[in-house]
Amino acid sequence: MTPLPKGALSARARRSPILLCLDYDGTIAEIVDDPACAAPHPEAPALLRRLVARPDRVALAIVSGREVSVLRRFLGIDDGLILVGVHGLQILWPDGEREMNAGGARGDLARLRAWISASVPRSLGFRVEDKEFSIALHYRSAPAEAAERIRDAFVEYVKNNTPALTLSPGKCVIEALPRIAGKGHAIRVLLRRFPGFVPVYFGDDLSDEDAFAAIGEAGLSIFVGPERKSAARYRVDSPRDVIRALMEIATAIESNFIPQAEQKPS
Ligand SMILES: [Mg+2]
Repeated sequence: MTPLPKGALSARARRSPILLCLDYDGTIAEIVDDPACAAPHPEAPALLRRLVARPDRVALAIVSGREVSVLRRFLGIDDGLILVGVHGLQILWPDGEREMNAGGARGDLARLRAWISASVPRSLGFRVEDKEFSIALHYRSAPAEAAERIRDAFVEYVKNNTPALTLSPGKCVIEALPRIAGKGHAIRVLLRRFPGFVPVYFGDDLSDEDAFAAIGEAGLSIFVGPERKSAARYRVDSPRDVIRALMEIATAIESNFIPQAEQKPS
């Protein structure tokens, strides 16, 4: 990965409309110990409002593992934003249309719920996040030995008993979700809805790799965090850099727009 070159995003956004996709946690919100308290970067909501004010230039989607209702509460923006929750299983379009898809996994999710209530301690710092179409086990606050033991048992149970579910590991979280779910799937759905928009994707976690791969050479994929192996083309250090990048895009689209067809060949 190379560092995101200064000016690359504004140049891209001036040339054609963009489908701007942002992961939430670790991308426009700092990672915090309690996921229930992950407020967005203080400058994010105002910037997102500037971006959705130009739907001719930017289609803006938050693409997260969280539920749409939670993203909406954190961001406090009702209009213009596309919210993609639970790894593409929930989509709230700007016109209020909702898409929900459990991918035929309801029975397996119910079985996993029963296993969790029998097997995961209610104390020790574990937290279960039940998102209707997926279930995440957070163990950031659990002691290391218990975290590893319960996590492994969760993995074993899902592998052996719930064929419609797959596992998605994250930072101190393991999540079971329907096999059709994934951020790559979400990107393909969004691109079908916005033909001619070039995808630009920011994300920090393993679940974002699927989206980076889906974008490939068709757009800009940007990993957020310290250097590691990733399918993303570019990298920035932190959510603060993402905010700077969003400012660059907002400024570019608010200034003169030259449609591609009218540009002189170079
Ligand atoms: Mg993230």
